[in-house]
Amino acid sequence: MRIIPKIAVITAALLPAMLIVSSLPSDLYGFGILSGWLGTGLISASLLLMIREPFWTVWWGGLQCMYQWHHRMGMAGYVLLLAHPLFLASRYLELDLDTAWEFLSPFNSDLLNRIGWIGLIVFMLGLAATFSLRLSYSVWRHLHLLLVVAMLIGLGHIAIAGGFSVSLAVTLLMIGIAVSWRLVHSDYGIGAFPYEVDAVSHPSEHITEVVLRPLGKPLGIAQGQFVNAAFFEGPHFQGCGEFHPYTVSKVTEDGSLSLSIKALGNCTQHIQLLEPGVAVRLQGPYGTFLLDRPLSAEIWIAGGIGITPFLALLRSYPVMQKTDLVYVHREHEQVPYEQELQAYATVQVELQVYSLIMENDPMPLFALLANIDELKQRQIYLCGPPLLIAKVTSWLQVQGVPEQQIHSEQFDFRS
Ligand SMILES: Cc1cc2nc3c(=O)[nH]c(=O)nc-3n(C[C@H](O)[C@H](O)[C@H](O)COP(=O)(O)OP(=O)(O)OC[C@H]3O[C@@H](n4cnc5c(N)ncnc54)[C@H](O)[C@@H]3O)c2cc1C
Repeated sequence: MRIIPKIAVITAALLPAMLIVSSLPSDLYGFGILSGWLGTGLISASLLLMIREPFWTVWWGGLQCMYQWHHRMGMAGYVLLLAHPLFLASRYLELDLDTAWEFLSPFNSDLLNRIGWIGLIVFMLGLAATFSLRLSYSVWRHLHLLLVVAMLIGLGHIAIAGGFSVSLAVTLLMIGIAVSWRLVHSDYGIGAFPYEVDAVSHPSEHITEVVLRPLGKPLGIAQGQFVNAAFFEGPHFQGCGEFHPYTVSKVTEDGSLSLSIKALGNCTQHIQLLEPGVAVRLQGPYGTFLLDRPLSAEIWIAGGIGITPFLALLRSYPVMQKTDLVYVHREHEQVPYEQELQAYATVQVELQVYSLIMENDPMPLFALLANIDELKQRQIYLCGPPLLIAKVTSWLQVQGVPEQQIHSEQFDFRS
């Protein structure tokens, strides 16, 4: 089933190029035009992967997979766009090098050339921002939008070069659907589920647990899944109003759910001051991390606040199979939920909980994992910061744990 959305998006990406390919000259110049259309198609279709509709993300096997495709298609499109003027210049290269350079030069006064260069420079700025992980998320996201601006400039370039065409209409349609859906539905939260903060507690200094009560139809969510939540105003609180992803740490039958939110950047630091009565909007559910797990022995590895999906499971029902939970945290931190987890382990014979203090060196974690019996036969679930997940995944692979037994949820993705 997961192949269908991939085929659909690739077809959409190739469509603008397929519609014009028969009219192109069969030389390098013709290939230059084709590479321009292929690049444009790939980048436009990659925007469809910014749409965060739950049915669409499940179809893709999760947001993480969707975003990987979004980035790969965007990069492939960018390389093709870079190749586009070089192949076009081949026609002038037959005359001499100076004429070819004049054609390519950013100082060439031709309008088509100028717009092409402006589009490329804006695209490069957008890409530079994309790879700059030090930027705060909201700055990063605004700079990432430069890529959409670059696309629109690129469409202007195409319209000047070849006039209006069906390929251009298809491209415009894709960009229009993707950008308006993402902005209106996802970012401004039209159609998001209304909730209200019912209770607030602080399991540790930098973590706030908030119980959310539905004000209308509750969102149907399973343990281990996450929501995008935006906090608005309350009696004495004004939230940042942006949608951020949080995994539910408790799901209740009456439709209430809990989120455990760690203070990290501006928005989550302010959330620590949350109070009952604050209006909240939720989008989701998202995530397939702990859904449809095979009934076999498991190891859960949580880095810091990455404990939330496992907490949601343990708060719902006892584990049915042998489960070792390794909860990794930094020495200087107060350890939230440690007593609650140990209490579950005391009454559930299949559950073993290890609380492990660890800084940047992962050796203590590897030593502990190496002592867990039948490591290679276990299903292993990892949740937390990307660096921890990357280190543990490669160590597990070196130990011979098959890739399909390693499942992870990163608490950081950018899109
Ligand atoms: C699938 C998933 C589940 C998560 N579950 C939890 C949870 O249960 N509890 C918890 O405390 N934290 C969770 N997080 C992390 C949480 O989303 C960030 O800590 C929060 O968004 C930070 O926002 P900020 O404005 O305070 O900080 P910023 O300084 O803006 O961001 C800090 C970090 O969070 C990431 N981030 C910020 N906003 C978003 C966003 N809208 N989408 C994706 N990443 C973002 C940024 O890349 C950055 O690295 C989860 C993240 C993901 C991706």
